Amino acid sequence: MKKILEKYGEVKENIDLKKYNTYGIGGKARFLVKPLDISNLVSLIKYLKQENMAYFLLGSGSNVILPDEDFLGVIIRLDNLNKIVIQDDLAFIEGGVPLTFFSNYCLSLGYTNLVFCNGVPGTVASALVGNVGCFKHEIYEYLVDVTILNEKGNIEKIAKENIQYSYRYTEFKKRNIVILKATFKLEKGSVSIAEEKIKEQILFRQKNQPLGTKNAGSVFGNPLNNSAGKLIEEAGLKNRRVGGAVVSTKHANFIINDNNAKSSDIISLIEIIKKEVKEKYNIDLKLEQQIVKW
Ligand SMILES: Cc1cc2nc3c(=O)[nH]c(=O)nc-3n(C[C@H](O)[C@H](O)[C@H](O)COP(=O)(O)OP(=O)(O)OC[C@H]3O[C@@H](n4cnc5c(N)ncnc54)[C@H](O)[C@@H]3O)c2cc1C
Repeated sequence: MKKILEKYGEVKENIDLKKYNTYGIGGKARFLVKPLDISNLVSLIKYLKQENMAYFLLGSGSNVILPDEDFLGVIIRLDNLNKIVIQDDLAFIEGGVPLTFFSNYCLSLGYTNLVFCNGVPGTVASALVGNVGCFKHEIYEYLVDVTILNEKGNIEKIAKENIQYSYRYTEFKKRNIVILKATFKLEKGSVSIAEEKIKEQILFRQKNQPLGTKNAGSVFGNPLNNSAGKLIEEAGLKNRRVGGAVVSTKHANFIINDNNAKSSDIISLIEIIKKEVKEKYNIDLKLEQQIVKW
């Protein structure tokens, strides 16, 4: 099997998934494949579908709750889909490029509109799945189009106007597609002001978020005109623990793996938070992280 998969890119066998997600949880995966280019990736998906083999696309694993069970299929990472071309205020970018690298690269050429997402972990492809946002901006603001491998195995370019998206949501969350590349609109601005903004953003995150711990960012999206962190804190849930998972004392909308947490610990803690916030405020918190099932 390994030999066959090697036709499509770099292959690792029996990988420990704990090293591939920011919660540091999960079992083992039978294979990890990193296709060398888009054509490799397209052929790999075609082959896996033909053979009825399970696969899962993983970016930096900073928005997923991976299962404790081993995965007998293929984890696909787009590390080698890392090309960026800038032309006439447009960026043509492959899905595997890390978002913060992209933001820094644009800034080095004087384009400042993407500094808001500087500091968000993960790849451009994943950011387009979840419509990443922070500091009053979201990634879809500057998107022109996305190229995907669709459910039928065809490559399709979709203009932003034809994509359904909203706060931390896009139709790609529900579709079995692969994001291959995208085009963004770039805007020039003052580099020194942008650099100052990045410093402020870093300071804000250092002050308000449990950086340096094992977490996957905000657990819940903010309800309209409200703050999930504030609701969870006021429900008295800071420091609530299940097994190795605990609600951060620094920011209540973060769950931390501080002692060999299992996926099931995190999921149980999520259920407790949802239940207690519902009982206290009659508000249904909506999960922003993705519970993955093999
Ligand atoms: C400390 C910290 C701070 C964070 N701050 C923010 C923030 O400010 N704003 C914010 O919005 N988020 C934030 N996040 C959450 C997270 O970084 C983002 O959701 C990010 O976009 C996830 O990227 P990833 O590559 O890690 O995705 P992963 O967790 O690896 O995957 C996310 C989803 O995308 C799918 N996917 C991956 N690649 C593809 C592809 N090529 N085609 C189709 N589907 C694909 C996966 O299957 C999965 O369903 C933060 C997380 C952390 C840990």
